[in-house]
Amino acid sequence: MPIEAGFQCAGCGEWNETVVDETGGGRQSYVEDCQVCCKPNVLAIRWMGDGYEIHTELES
Ligand SMILES: [Zn+2]
Repeated sequence: MPIEAGFQCAGCGEWNETVVDETGGGRQSYVEDCQVCCKPNVLAIRWMGDGYEIHTELES
């Protein structure tokens, strides 16, 4: 079941809403464009027990 999550854009610092799919595995990464500045953010999602961590960086 997809989970609503948020990430902070590495380019402009604005928060974006996204949806992560728990069934995709313990580690996932994908690119999502910032809804504010349109820069591509690489989201690295790591599941830890019942929580998760999202690391964001700009696509190089
Ligand atoms: Zn941005």
